[in-house]
Amino acid sequence: MIKVFKFGGFAVSDAKSVKNLANIIASHANDQILIIVSAMGKTTDALENLCKAFVEGEDDAHEILNNIKQFHENIMLDLFENKNNPVFYEIANTFVEIEWMLEDEPHPDYDFNYDQIVSIGEFLSSRIVAAYLNQNKIDTNWLDARDFIHTDNSYREGIIDMDKTRSSMPKLLNLLKKQVLVTQGFIGGTSENFTTTLGREGSDYSAAIFASCLQAESLTVWKDVSGIMNADPRLFPDAQKYDELPYSEALEMAYYGATIIHPKTIKPLQNANVPLYVKPFLEPNEKGTIIHSMAILNTDIAAKIVKNNQILLSMSTKDFSFIDEQILIYLLQCVSQSNIKINMMQRSAMSLSVCFNQDDVKFNKLLNTLKDKFNCKYNQELSLLTVRHFKKENLNAICSGKTIIMEQFSRNIAQIILK
Ligand code: ASP
Ligand code: MG
Repeated sequence: MIKVFKFGGFAVSDAKSVKNLANIIASHANDQILIIVSAMGKTTDALENLCKAFVEGEDDAHEILNNIKQFHENIMLDLFENKNNPVFYEIANTFVEIEWMLEDEPHPDYDFNYDQIVSIGEFLSSRIVAAYLNQNKIDTNWLDARDFIHTDNSYREGIIDMDKTRSSMPKLLNLLKKQVLVTQGFIGGTSENFTTTLGREGSDYSAAIFASCLQAESLTVWKDVSGIMNADPRLFPDAQKYDELPYSEALEMAYYGATIIHPKTIKPLQNANVPLYVKPFLEPNEKGTIIHSMAILNTDIAAKIVKNNQILLSMSTKDFSFIDEQILIYLLQCVSQSNIKINMMQRSAMSLSVCFNQDDVKFNKLLNTLKDKFNCKYNQELSLLTVRHFKKENLNAICSGKTIIMEQFSRNIAQIILK
């Protein structure tokens, strides 16, 4: 049976976790395994800084790159007894490619540079993982995800060409019969052979695409938590784990900002009816949470999701016009063109209020577009609390000590903006 395993950055953050990964794979000797890895630890953040330094011509680019190199080298020195293992050359070559890139002028499109540089994190981690499995007698083949995940050229948010992606799968099915396969999450390739990325934390999505196109028996996402919880245990000490969730509930939770799983992950799995296991990588025999179509949702457990760093912007007409449907469309277009995703909104006679994640570049773009025709007032550093399956009597306790800026209730969902 084909199983797709995804290991996120935390599950490959050091030598110890790579060894743990190998133990998990070794215990699945009878399955056909495709492994999708993220970049190691916080490498993607570091590569984002590298890209920014490169494009903006700051002189710390080489220092940032050296730190990334050192981090990977230390992990490899711990993992590989034989210092002539070809992985040392492969990794060195990957870094040489970036160094060449840094010698050149940046491409005028920031997002293009971003994808060519930031994608390196997954190439490094997948090379190291594949080599370590081979060293440990697990016959493993490294694959370039760009040969399988085909996207358009929307850099940083590659849109997957499902037909083309699907048609590349038979090759993978054959390879899976022979060896364990390791490839990169988060990246795809364009028809001109450039690299795209699928959005931050996109490895879950990659894994879901592979699992659905291969009609895998299951996808397992190995995480540093025991499964999917109804709340962040750091904020809510009484948080509980779900044993199972229907696809729809997992999708809703991810949509409202639960960081357990990338929001795009559920659709391909639901469409192909592939169950998703979320399991703790340090306790692989624990049950974790299973997301599947037959799951029964326990609505006695309220899901509490907190999104920090929110802006609440209210846009009002200068001339006392109503926010009618035409103006509404215009305002939403402005928001969308600034690449802002709305987390909550409310309309009154003369104003539309929208709440979204703080991002200065996008926000300033929006303010500039609006300033001639609308009065814009905003509050920053807010939190958006979403409670699914809420009980009114419990909300006071959750909000205590905070000021409520705006709230909205439907039968099942409470959304409250807090300061
Ligand atoms: N490495 C990428 C990130 O950190 C993708 C992922 O981890 O899913 O965003
Ligand atoms: Mg990650």
